[in-house]
Amino acid sequence: MYVIYQKGNKEAGVSVNGESHISLDVAKGLIVDALTDFDAALGQRAADILYNDARTNILETANPEIVEVQMYRPAGVTHADLVSSGMLIPDYAERFNTKGYGADGGPFTQQINDSDHGIIDLVYRGTPNAVSWLAHELGHAIADDIQIENGRSFQDFTSDEQEEQAYFVQNIVIDHLRDKFGLHDVRETNLGEPSLCDEFSSRASQFAAAKDRYEAALGEDASTRSTSVNKALDQRIATI
Ligand SMILES: [Zn+2]
Repeated sequence: MYVIYQKGNKEAGVSVNGESHISLDVAKGLIVDALTDFDAALGQRAADILYNDARTNILETANPEIVEVQMYRPAGVTHADLVSSGMLIPDYAERFNTKGYGADGGPFTQQINDSDHGIIDLVYRGTPNAVSWLAHELGHAIADDIQIENGRSFQDFTSDEQEEQAYFVQNIVIDHLRDKFGLHDVRETNLGEPSLCDEFSSRASQFAAAKDRYEAALGEDASTRSTSVNKALDQRIATI
């Protein structure tokens, strides 16, 4: 369980009355700042993805009818990949793209991705948790990019490994929000919205491992930390 809630900060676009809202634009800026503070190259990768329309299929909405979507589509993922990983949702478009949309449907039409770049699919509602989830899906995207650069792909990693990679990036952003904007992380609290809670309880060891990697990297100088970031996101990188 690792959720955050707002203590109140106007600069971050957060109100104090429980109706917190952080616009998608503000969220992207917060995430890029957090990752840049941690590692300049990581921040650049984040900006390259978050400000690229081809890589961000993100719907910013407050419409409660619209079903949650929080996914990352790796570059080149096929129908066969989805079947073999048990991730295929046969009625995907019907499930995620109907309620709350007009006759033309919404932007979540398919799970496959025949392009050479990964895509973040997300319904963004402007809560602190939504920022955290955007950071999580971004973590998958950055890891995917690094793996491709190193001659690998998502297929070289188990789903547990992929989740640990995303948690690593998510940890950096959550800590930044907490430290810089008075957003607190709260364990054992259910805010009644989709959060890391469910995910964490089913992947506690991956979350703990990501947090350990993150905390170890925090104590390193810039160049060593950069190497640690790359290892956290592509565990196949050889330890020298
Ligand atoms: Zn994930």
